[in-house]
Amino acid sequence: MSGDETTTTPPVLRVRGVHKSFDGTAVLSGIDLDIASHQVVVAIGASGSGKSTLLKTINLLERVDDGQIFLKGDDITDPRVNVDSVRSRIGVVFQQFNLFPHLSVIDNVTLASRKVHGVARDEAEAEAERWLDRIGLRAKLKDYPDRLSGGQQQRVAIVRAILSKPELLLLDEITSALDPLLVGEVLDLVRDLKTAGATILMTTHEMSFARSAADHVVFLHQGVILEQGAPDAFFGAPTAPETREYLSRLH
Ligand code: ADP
Ligand code: MG
Repeated sequence: MSGDETTTTPPVLRVRGVHKSFDGTAVLSGIDLDIASHQVVVAIGASGSGKSTLLKTINLLERVDDGQIFLKGDDITDPRVNVDSVRSRIGVVFQQFNLFPHLSVIDNVTLASRKVHGVARDEAEAEAERWLDRIGLRAKLKDYPDRLSGGQQQRVAIVRAILSKPELLLLDEITSALDPLLVGEVLDLVRDLKTAGATILMTTHEMSFARSAADHVVFLHQGVILEQGAPDAFFGAPTAPETREYLSRLH
C-alpha cells in the first residue's frame, strides 16, 4: 500500500460485500457502497428490494451474514463492537413513530444530546431552539407530539437526530406516511442539512427530490445495487430494464 493510501481519510460509510438473509431468503446479496463526507446518497427501488434492511444493517438493528461495514474506517460489523457506541454516531429517522409521545418537543430533541452525549441542558436547549426557530416551530417547543402535524413531527425528529451531531444520518422513507402537502417542508429541511454539511443515506419514493438533492443515486433490485450514478445520468438515461420499469411505474 502506498503512503498516500494510508493517510487518506476513509469515507464516512463503506459497505463491502454485505449479505443478509431471512429464513433462507436472500434480501441483500452483496452490497458495496461508499459515502464520502457531506454526500447525500439516495437509495431507491421497489418495495421489498432491501432498502430498509440495508439501513438496518448499518445501524446494527440487523446483523450482516457476510461482508463488512465501516464507519469512518471502524469495522462496525466486528462482533466485539459496542453497539450503543456505534448507534450514538449514527442518526436515524424512520417513516413514523419517531418521537416520544410523553415528552415535549424540547425534551424530545434534547434528550439524546444530554443523556448520550453529555451536553449540558442549557447548551442543548439553546441549540435546539435555534433549529426549531429555523423550521418555524419555536413556539411549539413545550407542546407534545400529538399537537403537531405529521410534517412538523418529522421535522422535529430530524432536528433531534442532527442535534446529536451524527457522523452519518439514515433517513428511511421519512415522507411516506405524510399528507402530500406536508412532504415539501420535510424535504426542504433535508436540503438544509445537506447545506449544513451532513452526510446522508436516505430512501425515498420522491424522485424529483432525489434528482435535485442527491449527489449519488443507487437503485436496489432484489438485494443488489443494479444501477447507480449521478442523478442527471441516472434519471436521464437509465440503462437497466428493471430501472426503466421501476421509474416508469412511478409516473
Ligand atoms: P424495502 O425497504 O426495500 O421495502 P425491506 O428491506 O424492508 O425492503 O425488505 C426486504 C425483504 O426482506 C422483504 O421481502 C421483507 O419481507 C423481508 N424482511 C425484512 N425484514 C425481515 C425480518 N425481520 N424477517 C423476515 N423477513 C424480513
Ligand atoms: Mg423500507
